[in-house]
Amino acid sequence: MKKPTHLLLLFFIMLNCGELVPNPDKNPENMTQENPDPKSNSEKVNEFAIVIHGGAGTILKKNMSEEKEAEYKAKLEEAIRVGYSILDKGGSSLDAVEKTINVLENSPLFNAGKGAVFTNAETNELDASIMDGKTLNAGASAGTKTVKNPINLARAIMENSPHVMMAGDGAETFAKEQNLEIVSPEYFKSENRLNTLKRVIKKEQEKTKNKTSAFYDADIKDSKFGTVGCVALDKKGNLAAGTSTGGMTNKRYGRVGDVPIIGAGNYANNATCAVSGTGWGEFFIRATVAHDISALMEYKDLSLEEAAKEVILRKVPDLGGNGGIIAVDKNGNMVMEFNTAGMYRASMNDKGELTIGIYSK
Ligand code: ASP
Repeated sequence: MKKPTHLLLLFFIMLNCGELVPNPDKNPENMTQENPDPKSNSEKVNEFAIVIHGGAGTILKKNMSEEKEAEYKAKLEEAIRVGYSILDKGGSSLDAVEKTINVLENSPLFNAGKGAVFTNAETNELDASIMDGKTLNAGASAGTKTVKNPINLARAIMENSPHVMMAGDGAETFAKEQNLEIVSPEYFKSENRLNTLKRVIKKEQEKTKNKTSAFYDADIKDSKFGTVGCVALDKKGNLAAGTSTGGMTNKRYGRVGDVPIIGAGNYANNATCAVSGTGWGEFFIRATVAHDISALMEYKDLSLEEAAKEVILRKVPDLGGNGGIIAVDKNGNMVMEFNTAGMYRASMNDKGELTIGIYSK
């Protein structure tokens, strides 16, 4: 019989051999320009970093005017610079995420806060969540109609209540108790989003008449996207993720999407990464997108980029869903992965280098 020390030696030799096998996917030449500096899982590439998105979908250059494109880029830059400056001064990733998302929520360009999409009943019902990678604490709100900045409510739920998720009237009562800004439901309405609702309803009726499925109609599907999200790594090595949305156009019956569901549209864990998603929520829930990316890193030792590709380019489309994610790992690697024609997105590294993108190519 072998001595236990021999067995131990054998175990260590096997471990080291594993590390000697080169992984072709970690070759920097295979990496896209938008996911800069990916190194091995253990090498720090950025002391701090921030990534944002403003929704994914069929965003095509041919459908976008130059002015509109400039408007989107300017707002993305304004938002990310708010978070960057917090991180640069040594502030927390949670503050950076919340304040960055506030800028996007307050802009009618995005489907979060002001400018949220309409439900079938012509109301705006907002979802949001935030997660602290250090403590794995999380907060989420669903279906609120009067809270100006749902991400602030999500944070208040995380920090000032014993719960993780609150919905509807109860969430609004709590928001008032927390002295968060309350607005009239009218505040969220925009003509543009109302027109989209009418177009989608009309299309749905035509489809029903022709007995075809409206659910899979490309136009209907894509008119629904535009959530916002932010992930950040701060100088103390703490990760945070936040996501805020009006959900999907024409949603019914108190529908809640992936955004307030921890592990689906949002997740952060200092041991792995912080992820915020955007896309067809039902599929993001079923694929537990954000947690899956973290789990692939934690249990299978995949790099952030490999994990994101596995979930966004294989798992979600295999189920029939679409969308994308932004993520940053504990070493400051940043990823913006999507399977749609476009995703509004921006990133900044610790040197203050900014990238902004809209289309896939
Ligand atoms: N994921 C969101 C939802 O399903 C929509 C989006 O990201 O645009 O509610």
